Amino acid sequence: MPAETHLFLCLKDNFGVLLHDPSTGATAAIDAPEAAPVEAALAAKGWRLTDILVTHHHADHTAGIAELKAKHKCRVIAPHDKAAKIPAVDVRVGEGDTVTVGSLTARVLETPGHTLDHVSYWFEQDKIAFVADTLFSVGCGRVIEGNAGMMWDSLLKLRKLPDDTQLYCGHEYTAANVRFALTIEPDNAALRARADQVSKQIAQKQPTIPTTIRAEKSYNPFLRADIASVAAGLGMDGANAASVFATIRGKKDKF
Ligand SMILES: [Zn+2]
Repeated sequence: MPAETHLFLCLKDNFGVLLHDPSTGATAAIDAPEAAPVEAALAAKGWRLTDILVTHHHADHTAGIAELKAKHKCRVIAPHDKAAKIPAVDVRVGEGDTVTVGSLTARVLETPGHTLDHVSYWFEQDKIAFVADTLFSVGCGRVIEGNAGMMWDSLLKLRKLPDDTQLYCGHEYTAANVRFALTIEPDNAALRARADQVSKQIAQKQPTIPTTIRAEKSYNPFLRADIASVAAGLGMDGANAASVFATIRGKKDKF
């Protein structure tokens, strides 16, 4: 049976998401920004929390873990965060490891840059990837602990996933990301269409995700740093993609 997901907002602009396996009843929370909205989402769906899949150590992704684990006795799966800031971890995972949620299986992809420990969880069979603060719709995470080359490599790793992969990211930043992206590619028709769609989604208080690899490839400037017209628009003809990416990221940081 195919996986089910349930998306909801936490804190100010974090997404919480539950992944449910109907054949076993197992349910994972992807990160735990705070406990109460996760509890409310579980109650709304009538699902029982069995696992928490943690993407990285930032507090706005981990603050709810201890409380949820104490109540649900769920398993906590997390990357190897060097500073050990992620609480109550049961299983540490890294590149290529597999993680199961009931009968659902994910492959762990290390996607460092935003933090050094950041991982994404790719449920290949269900065509779902949880990419948290590495890749946003029409944007990407701030490069806080790594460097631009590392982040570009992580984005390339995600870009290679199948086009129809549904992407769940960590924050609702899409409207601001669209405004910035239009300064990089003002004539990109796919981006302009996405801008219209996002305006409607926000006006209707709908989330702007999940998105797909196919869609992001067409309008996310951070996945398009190796496209000649993007480099040319920045006056960087012939520059290597990682440095074009670094320039776009630098502009976004000041936007
Ligand atoms: Zn973060």
